[in-house]
Amino acid sequence: MNIVLFGGPGSGKGTQSEKLIEKYGLHHISTGEVLREHIRKETDLGKIAKSYIDEGQLIPDDLMIQILDSVLEEAKDKPGVIFDGFPRTIPQAEALNKLLEKRGKELHAVVGLEVPDDELVKRMINRGKMTGRADDNEDTIKKRLNVYHKQTSPLKDHYKKQNKYISIDGNKEIEHIFDTIVKELENKK
Ligand code: AMP
Repeated sequence: MNIVLFGGPGSGKGTQSEKLIEKYGLHHISTGEVLREHIRKETDLGKIAKSYIDEGQLIPDDLMIQILDSVLEEAKDKPGVIFDGFPRTIPQAEALNKLLEKRGKELHAVVGLEVPDDELVKRMINRGKMTGRADDNEDTIKKRLNVYHKQTSPLKDHYKKQNKYISIDGNKEIEHIFDTIVKELENKK
């Protein structure tokens, strides 16, 4: 089972990923985490990534797709993957298809966590206070939401057309959201 967890910044992708991993034993690929790890280690890629992340902008597709190809290669023997934060653009979605296909795999479902903007802002501001995550400040949050609406949300229609999109009300309790996701995934099997 290969699943994309989709939604705006702060929509709960990370939280629900953890729970799905526990239940289904899937491998987690969070592109945001991969990039933050590079920043922590001060690699060349980390320096490039930081300049985009601090501005609330997306890392360019070519670079992001290359990164995904290499993390996917490391995960090639895993029975299933949760993609958290990838794809974020149509070219990335097309690349994901190709990268899975070349490994004899396919994408089964895209779980979309739907949360209103004002709630996303509240959650990110809270997270920023709790974790000190650098891009969870009011200025960058606004930019990230704009980027989400302009560049990422068109992916919903892209995946709806492929009959892969599962819309989930992400403005509920964590456990309730999780139960709904599990039910929907079981239906799709
Ligand atoms: P996230 O942890 O998923 O919220 O990602 C944090 C930041 O990393 C984003 O705001 C982007 O700057 C960058 N990023 C993560 N994933 C991607 C992606 N698939 N494409 C472009 N940029 C990304």
